[in-house]
Amino acid sequence: MSDSKPGVSTRAVHSGNAIDQRMVTRAKSLPIYETSVFVYESLAQVDDFLAGNPDNYMYTRLGNPNTAALEALIRDLEGGEAALFSASGMASVSAALMGRLGAGDHLIASRELYGTTQSLIEKELSRFGIGATLVDIGDLAAVEAAITPATRLIYTETASNPLVRVSDVPALAALARRRGLKLMVDNTFLSPALYQPLADGADLVLHSTTKYLNGHSDATGGILVGDAEWIAQARRFQINAGGSASPFEAWLTFRGAKTLALRMKAHSANAQVLAEALEAHPQVARVHYPGLTSHPDHALAGRLFPKGASGMLSFTLRGGLEQVDRLIQGLQRTAFAPSLAGVASSITHPGKTSHRALSAEALAELDIHDGTIRVSMGIEDAEDIVADFRQALDRL
Ligand SMILES: *Cc1c(COP(=O)(O)O)cnc(C)c1O
Repeated sequence: MSDSKPGVSTRAVHSGNAIDQRMVTRAKSLPIYETSVFVYESLAQVDDFLAGNPDNYMYTRLGNPNTAALEALIRDLEGGEAALFSASGMASVSAALMGRLGAGDHLIASRELYGTTQSLIEKELSRFGIGATLVDIGDLAAVEAAITPATRLIYTETASNPLVRVSDVPALAALARRRGLKLMVDNTFLSPALYQPLADGADLVLHSTTKYLNGHSDATGGILVGDAEWIAQARRFQINAGGSASPFEAWLTFRGAKTLALRMKAHSANAQVLAEALEAHPQVARVHYPGLTSHPDHALAGRLFPKGASGMLSFTLRGGLEQVDRLIQGLQRTAFAPSLAGVASSITHPGKTSHRALSAEALAELDIHDGTIRVSMGIEDAEDIVADFRQALDRL
């Protein structure tokens, strides 16, 4: 980062605000443009829109000041050429893959993918003749061996769910570049406050903004940032397929993102405290958090995310489903809710929710067991959440 470039907290607060033409209302914060269509006063204004003037809007499926503001903000935080906001994280993944790939193309993806991304690849893309090979993304030789003449891109997640295995983005980017492939990275678990994959050579970054970028568990969305040509292909697909987001969701996410850097600092610090407390508890067999020296990717995470490893962790109880259920009942401040990255701490059970479709063998191969619980650490006072887990674990 150059000396003159403001820090991530400053940019999170100030980038994108200029979208509103202040001279009309002089509003200090960006208003909500809850309109499906915009009024034109002349044919020349239509020509101006079609010529690509970014301050001219026509129809919200094509673009809206609130989505444009959010795109400008996250583009700045991730350091990319262009950005596209969508109705959900999955609408973003669809736009990126369907907008770029065609029948006969092939992609390589991590075998530890977010469940719906894997389902999109296996159940939908396959029907359009787009092939895929899922590999252990930490094994670069396996990634390279999966490349065929039809391969167009490599797809991974900065940190996997639920074991928080870290992808070596710089090494994957170097491999992709050497073999003429693109690299797409789902950075949902880290957020640009902690890690920017584009700076390490990735071509496209994805976020489910439903998670940390909004951070308050009250809006659904997704965003792509990166390579301008790829974003243009995704935008064309989105306009044709209709995955555009509502102005209100964009506005909520824009508002939430302003506190991103503060929240990520708190999520990371709290997760470290909880991970250490869980590791010391006799009912807990294993804790998976990259901030722990016991995690296989501790050194890699320290190199890629020196500011913190975010709030996602998991642990495996010595007991099975019965103890999991007792823990769920016993926790008083920590909800059992199958999502993540909100300000309030929550837990989920991968085997019964996100990874339900997998066979017992596939789960065992991924090191996910009946007693495995994923925690999304919030921004409460860490000692209160630690005490909540301790009292519930003590009573198992
Ligand atoms: C939630 C999530 C998605 C999908 O996002 P939606 O907003 O639910 O569509 C994709 N990747 C990761 C890592 C996620 O956590």
